[in-house]
Amino acid sequence: MSIDFSVRRSKLVDMLKELGYIRSFKVERAMLAVPRELFVPDDVREYAYDDRPLPIGYGQTISAPSIVAHMTELLDPKPGDKVLEIGTGSGYQAAILAEIVGPEGCVWSIERIPELAELAMRNLGRTGYLGRVRVVVGDGSLGYKPEAPYDRIMVTAAAPRIPEPLIEQLKPGGRLVAPVGPLPFQVLLVVDKKEDGSIEVRRDLEVVFVPLIGEYGWRDEREALAQLTEKGVII
Ligand code: SAM
Repeated sequence: MSIDFSVRRSKLVDMLKELGYIRSFKVERAMLAVPRELFVPDDVREYAYDDRPLPIGYGQTISAPSIVAHMTELLDPKPGDKVLEIGTGSGYQAAILAEIVGPEGCVWSIERIPELAELAMRNLGRTGYLGRVRVVVGDGSLGYKPEAPYDRIMVTAAAPRIPEPLIEQLKPGGRLVAPVGPLPFQVLLVVDKKEDGSIEVRRDLEVVFVPLIGEYGWRDEREALAQLTEKGVII
């Protein structure tokens, strides 16, 4: 029997609205429009509308839909915005952002694992978002200078501190959302750059993300893992 993913998608969206993760019409519309089942591997496709992260290979995950919705609400992107995402993964979050910024906007997404960047491009291609999303292989902790400045920046991997280049590459009046702190638990930070260039930081939910590996993130996987084993976390 074939699965009716669109029914599951709208049930999940209703649940995320009830739980308060979806709070605006634009995020609701985007979550209804993007088929998450086409961003997850075949062997976990039937779980595409469970509210949980799923493995996408290379030790990485596609985040739970509630986290995607909540972070998108915090970021509050607008039609026409230029958005930078760090950590393309499956490409799902980038597609959600692309739905909201619309044809006048653009999403630049940076992924450090070339195979995942390719996977994301395939997923974005078959769902029709590749025109509005540009995927770049590289260390996103450095941001992406050629296209800076950005109206909005979203980091979808855990950074030990806010990467300085990302603040620099944010427009005055712009906003950054990132999970920041030690492993395994971080806090979502909402960073607003005021028109005068000053920075205002607000703390939001506690979250669990895979590490941001790079010059302004964790040095390498070993350093990130050492953090966890030091704390007695069994992985
Ligand atoms: N946004 C993704 C999605 O919608 O599927 C999920 C992101 S996953 C939780 C985190 C991603 O960040 C992984 O794909 C990982 O390889 C990537 N990553 C980690 N460090 C990075 C860095 N310095 N630059 C770019 N990507 C990085």
